[in-house]
Amino acid sequence: MVTGASKGIGRAIAIELAKNKINVVVNYNKDEKEAVNVVEEIKKLGSDAIAVKADVSDFGQCSAMMEIVKKKFNSLDILVNNAGILSDKTFEKMTKEQWDLVINTNLNSMFNVTKNALPLLKDNGRIINISSVIGINGNFGQTNYAASKAGIIGFTKSLAKELGRRNITVNAVAPGLIETQMTKNISFVRKKVIMEVTPLKRFGMPEDVANLVVFLASERASYITGEVVCVDGGLNF
Ligand code: NAD
Repeated sequence: MVTGASKGIGRAIAIELAKNKINVVVNYNKDEKEAVNVVEEIKKLGSDAIAVKADVSDFGQCSAMMEIVKKKFNSLDILVNNAGILSDKTFEKMTKEQWDLVINTNLNSMFNVTKNALPLLKDNGRIINISSVIGINGNFGQTNYAASKAGIIGFTKSLAKELGRRNITVNAVAPGLIETQMTKNISFVRKKVIMEVTPLKRFGMPEDVANLVVFLASERASYITGEVVCVDGGLNF
């Protein structure tokens, strides 16, 4: 299962998993058409998929989503908590609504989705949570986002300790600047500054993140747990 898989990084993860012969639950909140497109693309690759609507910030909707997943696939091998949003403002100007929206969508979703998914997750399974380099370093204008992404790291490390006895690995992936709808409105000047401090001198593509997620989901990563792996062109180095 990949949350927020209708576009951007989530879409790329869903497709890379399918290329590796894995069936995918494509979670989406609003973009039904895009989610259906992802399902069609996965089927063309020879894997099975369903699109399931659920707002990850709503516990009840996540619970209903897992009922659908249980009926279709019976169990889960891999959970990728990817869905996330931004609502940037300097802290002095940030409203309570902006704070709550980002924490509910990015961090409380970890509880809502994982709590409901865990009874379906097989032993030897994988949980991969999409954090951000902002959760490690912080960023101007992103106290809500940074807090949510740092929270994901603490959640990941603690859950890894709890689920080790079931051989379930739990890791976080921390992307740098990846070219998606989320980052398309960052100003030219700011992008130039970020590029200057990125050793590999390019921004990431959703596939750069997806390749790491597929590795962490594979048998080859079976001795890696509780880690935060950056995929950021060296930005955080
Ligand atoms: P995006 O905006 O292209 O995609 C986000 C996805 O999450 C969309 O499919 C959206 O519909 C879904 N989503 C949002 N709110 C939801 C909700 N309440 N319920 C269900 N789905 C919901 O952004 P992206 O760049 O692909 O981001 C994916 C993840 O990667 C996010 O968690 C983001 O914070 C993280 N990330 C992105 C970057 C970057 O530079 N793009 C960097 C670091 C981390």
